[in-house]
Formats: sequence, structure tokens, C-alpha cells
Amino acid sequence: MTAPHEEMACQTCLYPLNTLGMPPTYVHPTHLATDGHEPAPVPVSQLDTVRRSCDFCGDPYPIWTLHGGEVTAIAIGPTAGLVQDFGDSWAACAACQTHIDDSRNDIVIDRAVRALGLANHPHVRTRIEELHQAFLNARLAGRTLITTTTWPATTITAAELPKVRDRLTRFYRGNNNLPAALGITDTRQQIAAGLERSHLYWIDNDFTDLAEHAAGQLPDVRISRDLIPSADGILIWPRPVTHRQLTAASWTTTTHGRTIVLYRAIGGGLHGKPLQRLREQVGWLAPTSATHLPEQHLTPGDHPAAALVATWLLIAQQTADVTAARVDKAVAKTYARTNRPVPEVRIVRIRGRSSPRPDAEKMPGNPGGPQASRSWVSGHWRNQAHGPGRSLRRPVYIHPFLRGPDDAPIKLSTTVRMLSSHQSESQDDK
Ligand SMILES: [Zn+2]
Ligand SMILES: [Zn+2]
Repeated sequence: MTAPHEEMACQTCLYPLNTLGMPPTYVHPTHLATDGHEPAPVPVSQLDTVRRSCDFCGDPYPIWTLHGGEVTAIAIGPTAGLVQDFGDSWAACAACQTHIDDSRNDIVIDRAVRALGLANHPHVRTRIEELHQAFLNARLAGRTLITTTTWPATTITAAELPKVRDRLTRFYRGNNNLPAALGITDTRQQIAAGLERSHLYWIDNDFTDLAEHAAGQLPDVRISRDLIPSADGILIWPRPVTHRQLTAASWTTTTHGRTIVLYRAIGGGLHGKPLQRLREQVGWLAPTSATHLPEQHLTPGDHPAAALVATWLLIAQQTADVTAARVDKAVAKTYARTNRPVPEVRIVRIRGRSSPRPDAEKMPGNPGGPQASRSWVSGHWRNQAHGPGRSLRRPVYIHPFLRGPDDAPIKLSTTVRMLSSHQSESQDDK
């Protein structure tokens, strides 16, 4: 629901705010049960998460912004008239978008009536239909991806990574708009070209735990060329990391410098046709923010790309065991048909894990494989000298301690460690 002025959301609860009167006062939506806090309005372009819902049916995971007729409804309540400014931009969930594309607006109205719980009220359906038609009859071509939705977590496996990369590349080259606030509208073709050249990195569960823990304490870092594992790359964490809920990051050089794009996984919880359409039209990843990591600048430890920088540092300090896994036959065939070299996925694991060495042919993270449980990790960063004449300083992560799910003896010794006080400092360093 976009007003002519910039849309505002509450910084406390992340819900978009309605306006009341002129000049506007920002109020929480009437249906929202808050804890009583005052609305704290900030422009939505400053937030990477907005708890928007589908303006057609109320679904909490909208994916597209549609542009259409300006719609204003006035609800007369017991105390005052509330102007519900639906605006000329509506959020649509994957299901409503599918029905709209299929010219089944009647199903969209059914969804709205059901969501309101007013199926038996005689006039409700007619009123909703009027609102939807006022908007849709004046709909403009094109749509914009909503990148501020936090979807239920989904897992991207190593085997899926080539396809995930290809869909993302296609999305960048396609006609669907990205929010202007991301700042990559003019470089999206260059980002697509970079993705095509990218090395593909899939971080395993334990390494992800380590990287997330390390990212939380990351000191300021000077980024140098040798820290970055490849000129162009995309990296996947198999679960959302940090409070930003990131699933992937890509890096490439554009006319604006080294452009980093951070992504969230989308489509969790969807089924059937809406899911199929989303995978075809967008893929698995939505860019949630873009940033730059210029070399030799001091990058603050709380930088939006901290999880990526921590992962790079851990790989660079030889914590990682990087093995190439061959993709499965179906993917290889698809590439062969289009005369493209078969992609190689680099699996990043913690070096020296005592778990059975998976052979390089086998993709981890495939459904049906052993489920990894959460590892417990601790450690701290220390600046160490490196480079010519050891004149440079780079943070090195010291004494990470790991517990793997497939490693029973270590699990036993964890108990001992926690109970005894004479253990070495490195092991108790948590
Ligand atoms: Zn609020
Ligand atoms: Zn919907």
C-alpha cells in the first residue's frame, strides 16, 4: 500500500504504516495487535525486512509489487474516519499473482473473502471486487520483485547450486524490475555476466555455524585481493545466517567497483503452481541488499556483508577444506546441450574434521543424506601479520571448537570439558 509520498514502516515492528489525516500521522494498521508501542516511522527503503502482506488476500509472503489504479477507501469507524490509502502499488503473493496471470480474479476475491472471515456477509464480496477491479483495470505493465519479505527457511543443496545460479542470472537479464533502493538497476546486466563466470561455493553446515559465529564478532577488516577466493563468485550457506537471514552472496566487478549482492531464499512454504511459477520467473534467491567492498578500505565489522567477509577470512586462513564436486548427470546434460562447460561446485568444509571423508563425487546436502545437527562453536579473532615483510594485519579466527553430529567421542568429551576446570584455556574459551 504505497502512498504518493514515500512509504513508511514502523522500525519497531517492521509493519507498513497507514496514514491518518493531512499532514499525515502514521498509525499501525487497525487489524494489527501490537504490544502498544508508538509507531516509529522510517522510509521502507531503509529497511531490509518489511512485514508486508499481500494487498489482495493478506498472505504474509508477498513477492511482487504491481502498479495500477490509485485506490483510496474510507472506513467510517465509531471514533473517526480512517483513510485506508491502498495507493497505486499493491503487493501480491505468489498465489494471487498466479491467479491474476491466469485471469482468474474470482479466485483472488475468494481468497480475500476467506482471509477476512466474512464469507457470509452479503456485500463484502461485491465491495472487495470493486476495490480489486479499480486497481487491476488501470494496471500498468511490469512488476517489481519484493525483496524485503523474510520467507520460511528453505535449504539449497550443493546439487541445486548450478540451477540456482542460472535462474538468478536469467532473472537479472529479464524484464521484471528490482526495487530502485537496491541500487543495482543499472548494473544488473554486469552482475548477470559476473554470475555466469562465477565459481560456485557451497558452505557445509559446520562451516556455516563457524562462519556465523565468527561473523558476530568480526573486527574491522582491510579487504585485499588475495582474501577473495575468485574474481567472480557466488556462495551459498545452507541455512539463513545472521539477523539479516542471508542465504547467499555474490561478488563481481562492475563499473561501480566490486559489487556484493546479498540474498535471501524465497518460496519456502509454497506448493504447486505458485511455487513452479516462482522458480521459473525468479528462482531461489532474491537480492536483499547490494554493497561495495573496495580494497584497502577499512570495512567495519558490522558491515552488511560481515557473514561473507568472515567466510572469506576463514577460507583464506586455511580453516577450510575446499573440494570440487561434480554435478549430477541431468545437470551435466543440460549444460552439454547448450555447449556450456559443466559447472563445478566447490564444497567448503572445516579442515581436519574427523567425520568420514565424503568422496568428492558425492554431493552433500542432498535430501535423504544424514541430517547434520547444530555444532557448538566458539573462538575469537586476533590480528595477525601477513603479506610482504609481514607488514599487513588480518584477523585470524583462533581456537574454534567444534562438535559434529557424527562424532560421538567428541560429544562425550564436551561433557567432561564442561564439568572439569583443569582443561586448557583454548578448550574452555567460549
Ligand atoms: Zn510498530
Ligand atoms: Zn495474495
